Amino acid sequence: MPLRGTAVPTALALALVAGCAPPPSSGDNVVAAAPRRPAVAPASKVPVQKISYPATGSGTYAAAPKEFAGPRSGGEVLRYRVLVEQEINGIAVGEFAETVRSTLADPRGWTAGGDRSFRRVGRGAQADFTIYLVTPGTRDDLCQDDANGYTSCRNGEAVVINVARWVKGVPRYAPGLETYRQYVINHEVGHRLGYGHQLCPGKGEPAPVMQQQTLGMHGCKPHSWPYRDDELYTGAAGQYNDSAPPREGAAQP
Ligand SMILES: [Zn+2]
Repeated sequence: MPLRGTAVPTALALALVAGCAPPPSSGDNVVAAAPRRPAVAPASKVPVQKISYPATGSGTYAAAPKEFAGPRSGGEVLRYRVLVEQEINGIAVGEFAETVRSTLADPRGWTAGGDRSFRRVGRGAQADFTIYLVTPGTRDDLCQDDANGYTSCRNGEAVVINVARWVKGVPRYAPGLETYRQYVINHEVGHRLGYGHQLCPGKGEPAPVMQQQTLGMHGCKPHSWPYRDDELYTGAAGQYNDSAPPREGAAQP
């Protein structure tokens, strides 16, 4: 989203600079080539969408619209809603919903077995579950667990993604934020499908998606999908005794 429409052909950018046109004020990346300035990597000039959110939001939500009801791969159709808490700024509900949709529809995702598919419905429609993107405080309200403000969760028909993890991911998750986001969607939706926590199968192996990868890898490598090589990829049932790091803004112990 933030990159849309900002690409300027290099030749044009150079021509603008060579012609001493004033640097555009709109944040276009042509300023990277401005003279009399130290060289700056162009990437650092790409406008970054500012994301902000309070510790606890109001518990009111923007809803993603229903998706086009096209053909599905088959099996049971699970209907879900996508809600984003109002006070989360800089993440459009449609952008979040599209990441959810593409993750759920991925050939490595929960539809790979052919026995289920997903369809997003609108705010007022009957749904099998709801995927929320919420502030840490609202996460505690919806999860009704240990109120750690750090993790995401699934509680009944609520799949609750903590915006703090959505934006920051977790430390030492080498493949990066995109992979972590896929992981957290697949993990929490996996709970809604009835799967419990699983353990790392062995040092250096990919982690099962139902391992609590937010809290620790335990020798496994980050892995964000339920299926590998068209097979459901699992570990032994169980979970580690990891505790969640402090929530944002909390005093360090
Ligand atoms: Zn879990």
